[in-house]
Amino acid sequence: MLNYLSGLIRDQRGMSFFIVCVGMTALFGMTALVTDFGRIALARQRLVNAADSAAMAGARDLCFISDPLTRELAARQRAIDVAKANGAPEEGITVNIENSKVSVDAQQDVNLIMSRVFGITHRNVSAHAAATVEGIRSYQGIAPLSIKEQPLEFGQMVTLKYGAPDSPGNFGALALTGRGSRNYRYNLIYGFEEPVYLNDTVDTEPGNMNGPTDGIDERLSRCSDGCTYDNFRPGCPKIIVIPMHRDDLQGRDYITVTGFAAFFVDREATLSQSDEIKGYFVRMAAEGSPDPDNPIISLYGARLVE
Ligand SMILES: [Zn+2]
Repeated sequence: MLNYLSGLIRDQRGMSFFIVCVGMTALFGMTALVTDFGRIALARQRLVNAADSAAMAGARDLCFISDPLTRELAARQRAIDVAKANGAPEEGITVNIENSKVSVDAQQDVNLIMSRVFGITHRNVSAHAAATVEGIRSYQGIAPLSIKEQPLEFGQMVTLKYGAPDSPGNFGALALTGRGSRNYRYNLIYGFEEPVYLNDTVDTEPGNMNGPTDGIDERLSRCSDGCTYDNFRPGCPKIIVIPMHRDDLQGRDYITVTGFAAFFVDREATLSQSDEIKGYFVRMAAEGSPDPDNPIISLYGARLVE
């Protein structure tokens, strides 16, 4: 009987030790999983963000330069720089550019700490993103001018406001927020505060608007970065965006917006004629519902597609 009892106690001690061992292992295993899963999840999220930002930045740069080879190199470099700045290791970054799509793959080996107990030392995580360049549907901040749709080359100088009528009674001015020279001058300086959409109709502002056209000088004076048409700061006041149309205008009329074009205004080109505004055609990224159905004339937006 005593022998039986002592045997039972011994068995129970053995069992307790066994349970403690199993419990410790499970606890340790769970800690390992939680700690290392956390590291993996964090690394993956960082890579996803890096790939997304890199693809968007690369796509935005894709339209800016007119030469295709230089453009692709610049977009690729931008994507790599942005991915690195967002924490992706350089050796794991792959950038592919096809037509107007920039794809970025990022991968990274994550060193594991606790899982080494089980012989697992690292885990590879990866992320993929792709962004395309598309025309925009709307623009907020247009200048009260418009031109007829025409093929435009980067850097081409275009007359945006005429000193003599372009069509009967029209010098290129638009009436936004109502008619009158005060509205025209204000919108020339600051841009129209409401978004204008493709296919919107906008009233023209007939007449030369000789005096209020000097609003453009107030606008240009706000650039303090020495911007030029091929090297300007985003949002530079020397850049104006205007709607394009296909209408034959007759006096007091309206246009139907068929696209948006951006110009770097050069006031020196019109020194002898203060009621004229000329600008160099430029391309730039802009906000405004990018969509593959919208024409890319001058303004484009980047959109994540993968
Ligand atoms: Zn500027």
